Amino acid sequence: MAVADFEPVIGLEVHAQLLTRSKIFCGCSTQFGAPPNTQVCPVCLGLPGALPALNSGAVEMAIKAGKAFGCRIAERSIWARKNYFYPDLPKGYQISQYELPICSGGAVPVPGLGRIGLERIHLEEDAGKNIHAEGGSEVDLNRSGVPLIEIVGKPELRSAEEASEYLKALRLSLIYLGINDGNLEEGSFRCDANVSVRRKGESKLGTRVELKNINSFRFVRQAIEYEIARQVELIEGGGKVLQETRLFDNEKGVTRAMRSKEEAHDYRYFPEPDLPPLLVSRELLDSVTVPKLPQEVVEALTAAGVSAADARTIVGDPRLVEVHRRIGGDAKRAALFVVGELARAVNEKEADLGALKFDPALVPAVWKLQDSGAISSTAAKEVLAELIRTGEAPEKIVERKGLAQVSDTAALEVVVDAVIARTPAEVEKYKAGKTNLLGFFVGQAMKELKGKGNPGALNALFKKKLG
Ligand code: ADP
Ligand code: MG
Ligand code: ZN
Repeated sequence: MAVADFEPVIGLEVHAQLLTRSKIFCGCSTQFGAPPNTQVCPVCLGLPGALPALNSGAVEMAIKAGKAFGCRIAERSIWARKNYFYPDLPKGYQISQYELPICSGGAVPVPGLGRIGLERIHLEEDAGKNIHAEGGSEVDLNRSGVPLIEIVGKPELRSAEEASEYLKALRLSLIYLGINDGNLEEGSFRCDANVSVRRKGESKLGTRVELKNINSFRFVRQAIEYEIARQVELIEGGGKVLQETRLFDNEKGVTRAMRSKEEAHDYRYFPEPDLPPLLVSRELLDSVTVPKLPQEVVEALTAAGVSAADARTIVGDPRLVEVHRRIGGDAKRAALFVVGELARAVNEKEADLGALKFDPALVPAVWKLQDSGAISSTAAKEVLAELIRTGEAPEKIVERKGLAQVSDTAALEVVVDAVIARTPAEVEKYKAGKTNLLGFFVGQAMKELKGKGNPGALNALFKKKLG
């Protein structure tokens, strides 16, 4: 099989649940995990005569995404009915946007890939959920009417790896924007992958297959890789790729035909008669502010002296960015703490990023103790670990654990003199030129001081006294 003779082309459609408290066209809660059908009303049940009323919070979040990715934001966009039958869709249609979406164009910055173009971002309502159990299937309509944005990417991705990088970057961006929780397992961030292949050098796009049901980054890569290989094999064998929707079976690692791909006209789209056009005023547009995107935070951190690798690690979790910000002071040193001591404590379950026990602003106090020689660098590590674990003030930890280092010259001098007095043979050798014995003297003094002498100060004292 000659996968190498072919170029894969991938375009992703992402459905992201907006973090509003209530649904898009009614006041029902969007809270995940409630008992089935407890968060429903005539509107989201699709009862005849019930009228939708738009949640402006959802519109603001869509605008936020549009602004962040540099989309054109339509002053006037149109709600459309997308008609189809499914048990989880009692109305028989989904309110979406079709010809005139709220956002068009724009691009998502992806580390290492540059900017991946977007076709559009539109608002729509989610459908309910079919639950297939032993005794039969049940329908839960709690999710019906939950606000979504669908982010339709251009077919600009060229491998499963690129698709997964794009998804990670998009997910993190939405989290930074505060409009999506990025939870793939709960289905609040879902992806359909469109995959086609063409012979290298060919400019026309091949026939695409739409892959559904991929709910982890690993499955995205697996499903796309499987599909690329399947299509290449099919074409090499003289066959043709059918435009269809396929389901990824994550247990077998294969994709399976589900239905022939529906075309837009199958949905009989028409303007939603129960909702006026969606108008975005200049004031509304200007009032929506966009925080820094992950990529920009990485740039700000590296500009402040943090290594690129550490910056990426920190930015990967907005909570780490917040801790880093609260530490303040030397950005690089703070970053080393975050990816070092803190990450280790989190790994070892001694700290929970969701509920930290310590005030990050206390970290520089530990550095100060270390830099002044009050504690050694080894002791500083211990104090930081204890600070993370207990939140106790650094000075208190030093005192409680007896970590103070002896830097007081008078106190050190007593020890230094004693060591010199009881090691005349070594002193003689040192004076005769064996200066590497300095380490021996310092070691002797350290032993006497139970490891708490300031090594720099001891070095200097021995040098001075031995001439
Ligand atoms: P539909 O509703 O039919 O899925 P959309 O316009 O919503 O159509 O989405 C089309 C998606 O398919 C986009 O993400 C686009 O990038 C992708 N796409 C279109 N043509 C191809 C192709 N030949 N190969 C791979 N992906 C494609
Ligand atoms: Mg689609
Ligand atoms: Zn409702």
